[in-house]
Amino acid sequence: MSEVQINAQSQIPFLDLVAHHRPLEEEYCRVLREAVRGARFIGGAEVASFEREFAAAVGAPGAVGLNSGTDALRLAFLALGLRAGDEVITVPHTFIATTEAITQAGGRIRFVDIDDRTMTMAPDQLEAAIGPRTVGIVPVHLYGQAADMDPILKSAMRHRLWVVEDACQAHGATYRDRTVGAMGVVGGFSFYPGKNLGALGDAGAVTASDPAILARIRQLREHGQSEKYVHESEGYTARLDALQAGFLRVQLPHLAVWTEQRRQVAQWYRDALGVQDRVRLPDEAAYGKHVYHLFVVRTERRRELQRFLQTRGVGTGLHYPVPLHLQRAYEHLGYGTGAFPVTERASATLLSLPMFPEMTQDQVGRVADAIKAFPW
Ligand SMILES: *Cc1c(COP(=O)(O)O)cnc(C)c1O
Repeated sequence: MSEVQINAQSQIPFLDLVAHHRPLEEEYCRVLREAVRGARFIGGAEVASFEREFAAAVGAPGAVGLNSGTDALRLAFLALGLRAGDEVITVPHTFIATTEAITQAGGRIRFVDIDDRTMTMAPDQLEAAIGPRTVGIVPVHLYGQAADMDPILKSAMRHRLWVVEDACQAHGATYRDRTVGAMGVVGGFSFYPGKNLGALGDAGAVTASDPAILARIRQLREHGQSEKYVHESEGYTARLDALQAGFLRVQLPHLAVWTEQRRQVAQWYRDALGVQDRVRLPDEAAYGKHVYHLFVVRTERRRELQRFLQTRGVGTGLHYPVPLHLQRAYEHLGYGTGAFPVTERASATLLSLPMFPEMTQDQVGRVADAIKAFPW
């Protein structure tokens, strides 16, 4: 074996999409061939079938396929009638798409802090944040774990607010006896390639139970039309491609197994690292099933550990290093340092370790060994 091969083998990537898609290559080719031979690129049976199958997987009455998770959220807000100046409450510890969707639908962002254990919305912060302009709440099921939905839904009910779930990182995660995306009035999903269910390009979907909301999102994704060239309003070009729908249909039957593999990887990490002071492992709330989109640990020496792991060939990520309320993009909201202490502490200490379904126990062991070899 050449040195190059030894090195290549000893690398542990943060995510291995090549290994993930390799076994499905032939089926993807079949989808492509059928689309080309039938010239079916937009809409059609693949999209309709995927919508049915995905809704069934989530346990929601319906789904609408869209071009991204960001547009899934944005069209959800528009379909719910969000108007200029309406306030929507979410967390500053998420990807910016959550808040972009609020702003781009005409809403105003209002942040609440996260819970230190689950790193998702702290329900006890909600009451103080709800004001006369508040219309909705967007909990984010971050890293693959559901937010604590019961108290969130209760606050929403008390104040007559809607709840849209950002489920972009949590395909198949559960909360008590429900699946994420089936608890709020709308669930927004992303099929960006790195997500637990990831297309071969950009894609997304909403799930919902109200037929009127599903129909409105269907209109909005296609220029506001109710039938060809009949426009109820202006809309967008936000459809799911037939090809991506076909690729996602190839993957969907494997999702449950991939989720179990991710959970096994998480368990291997726990076994190998154990409970200790230097590296805090992610908490898994007793209320549901975590699907480990990411395996995020916390340590005071995050930067040094990340650099050390890099020299040992272990890829890592930071999700997310700068809280949204401290981003230049949101300077105008007027939140300063100290506004959301739990989020700020998390951002400064978190580190995402390699996590993908094909990861082996040997690879997990080598990451754990590298962490232990760090000169603490
Ligand atoms: C990925 C993601 C989105 C956006 O999805 P896209 O498909 O990339 O537009 C929204 N929210 C969260 C939490 C995400 O992780």
